[in-house]
Amino acid sequence: MIADEKRTIKEMISLYCRKHNHSCSPELCRECKELLEYAYRRLDKCPHGDDKPSCRHCKIHCYSQDMRARIRAVMRYAGPRMLLRHPLSIISWLRHI
Ligand SMILES: [Zn+2]
Repeated sequence: MIADEKRTIKEMISLYCRKHNHSCSPELCRECKELLEYAYRRLDKCPHGDDKPSCRHCKIHCYSQDMRARIRAVMRYAGPRMLLRHPLSIISWLRHI
């Protein structure tokens, strides 16, 4: 579900941002906020909606190269750390990239 994916990506980016000390407040730093908004927009615009198969097999390739690299860095860091808590949404996110 898109709503679950949004919640998960937000947690992953927050964890990543916090652990890398990007920001001295509990808020996301500017770059991570931008990345989160970008990910939200891509989810909202995805024409496959909730029955999206897997972005890897999707012909649209909606992420720009730069954003894809940034989201991958977040996944590499936060994915394994959050896998036990949100196994299904993480697996679904791993298929996005
Ligand atoms: Zn950050």
